[in-house]
Amino acid sequence: MERPSWWSEPLWGGPPTSRPPPRGGGGPYAATVDDHLREGKLTIGIKFDQPGLGFRDTDGSYQGYDVKIAEYVAGKLGVRPEGITFKEAPTAQRETMIMNGDVDFIVATYSITDERKKKVDFAGPYFVAGQALLVKKENTDITGVESLTGNKKLCSVEGSTPAQYVKDNYAKDVQLVEVDTYSRCIDALRSGSVDAVTTDDIILAGFAGQASGELKLVGDTFTTEKYGIGLKKGDQETRAKINDAIEEMIADGSWKRAFEETIGPLRDSTLTPPAVDRY
Ligand code: GLU
Repeated sequence: MERPSWWSEPLWGGPPTSRPPPRGGGGPYAATVDDHLREGKLTIGIKFDQPGLGFRDTDGSYQGYDVKIAEYVAGKLGVRPEGITFKEAPTAQRETMIMNGDVDFIVATYSITDERKKKVDFAGPYFVAGQALLVKKENTDITGVESLTGNKKLCSVEGSTPAQYVKDNYAKDVQLVEVDTYSRCIDALRSGSVDAVTTDDIILAGFAGQASGELKLVGDTFTTEKYGIGLKKGDQETRAKINDAIEEMIADGSWKRAFEETIGPLRDSTLTPPAVDRY
């Protein structure tokens, strides 16, 4: 007897044993990074809108320094580029995405902080950036952090360390406008609805590079942002493997090359490799 067409595809998705472990949820079937590595697959969180760092191009390809770091680390963990799924990891959602198992790890201009370490762990650092200011080319009254006075409008991203720094130190002096991505801040700066954008120098350098002379970085950096690779809290094994990969990337020259081929030319900072923190 012929089976009806729906027979082979049960509506409930088949018996539980034939199903791959679901991502996230933290239930009894929650897959680990190791499970994904056995399948040759990884889901990695990056930024999609930060030129030179984590950027999704119109053709669907991914570019930038964080992308290169992610691909190198994945390779050392035995995953080919085709096995990587990049997922957008906006600043304020990163800890939640890691805790929910939406991603295996995140490489997204992600500063290591004690506050974040309560929820997630970090491999690295693989880079050290610093908070800075970006203004329009013609602006003359903002020259550095000391210009943050007189109720100027400053844009940054909610959940970021630069936004927190402004709240902690300049709450009475400037108006902080918080949005969800830095590209939104750049739009606000160009349209004149804010006076400056603040975040890490290399992020600002990437946007300035894209804006062909229309925007400029001013002053020195005024914080230290150590970029780590965020992963599930307590996963010591994956953290150690990622730390090994970062060290190898630095040692074999790929780390320096990755920087020079992406964001490096836009931010001629002296490049000193950081030592990974095996805490
Ligand atoms: N590095 C800072 C942070 O992790 C700012 C960059 C970002 O929001 O991705 O909060």
